[in-house]
Amino acid sequence: MEIDSQKTAYVDLHIHSTASDGSLSPLQIIRTAKNIGLRAIAITDHDTVDGSAQAMASARDSGLEILSGVEISADYTPGTMHILGYLIDVDDPCLNETLRKLQKSRDNRNHEIIERLRLLGIDIRFDEVVEVSGGGQVGRPHIARVLVQKGAVQTMDEAFARFLKKSGPAYVPRYRLSPSEAIQTILRAGGVPVLAHPFTLNAKSEAELEAIIADLKQSGLKGLEVYYPDHSVVRTALYERLARRHGLLMTGGTDFHGAAKPGVFIGVGRGEMRIPYRLVEELKRGGRGDS
Ligand SMILES: [Zn+2]
Ligand SMILES: [Zn+2]
Repeated sequence: MEIDSQKTAYVDLHIHSTASDGSLSPLQIIRTAKNIGLRAIAITDHDTVDGSAQAMASARDSGLEILSGVEISADYTPGTMHILGYLIDVDDPCLNETLRKLQKSRDNRNHEIIERLRLLGIDIRFDEVVEVSGGGQVGRPHIARVLVQKGAVQTMDEAFARFLKKSGPAYVPRYRLSPSEAIQTILRAGGVPVLAHPFTLNAKSEAELEAIIADLKQSGLKGLEVYYPDHSVVRTALYERLARRHGLLMTGGTDFHGAAKPGVFIGVGRGEMRIPYRLVEELKRGGRGDS
């Protein structure tokens, strides 16, 4: 298929599939992306490349370009730090070994949380949680949903506030990579590490955010996710400025999760987003180290 003849050249570089906590399979994501005329996408599941690898295998000759991707959670307080990895070798043994370790820790953690809830007098079983997860990755939001179903709490928020939040009585930490380990894992698999949705770091000021970004760059970070549905115009401008100042690539994506995150759609986010293909070209140049 002649890609250059396509009029629109937009992309979505942050999509979750059923391989993690999204509600669409890689194949359904490909179909949707093609229907709305995107030129390239990346499936960036949490701590797994299964969805990404599957998409790359099934999209061959479809005219839709698939970039390999992953989203790794790094150990960070007081906020959430996710490092996206693009153009990784999905078969890299080291990467896969690390991801397996992260997945195993996720699984163990769910069992431990359930054990703690039971000790707190709540009747909840792992299979009930698996059932509401719909077959993908299981995590605290699914446990929260079961707690609501059982009437132990009124809302998901209450489940987190009373039991599941970091200082809550049923909270169990899980094994995470340090920020620099996450970055190195991606670099060693030939990929381009990018800081996802920088606002979730909860930096108190622009100066603090800039210091964190400078630190990550020292560890090998190559890009910032500048375009994101929850980024205001002001925020987006700030991230563009920081990316330029620190010689970082800019990426963008919707963080689409399907039914698991209502109101956010592939390619357009809440309806307004348009991420140009140019960013993919720059990403590829940056990945070769000649940016
Ligand atoms: Zn994220
Ligand atoms: Zn994400």
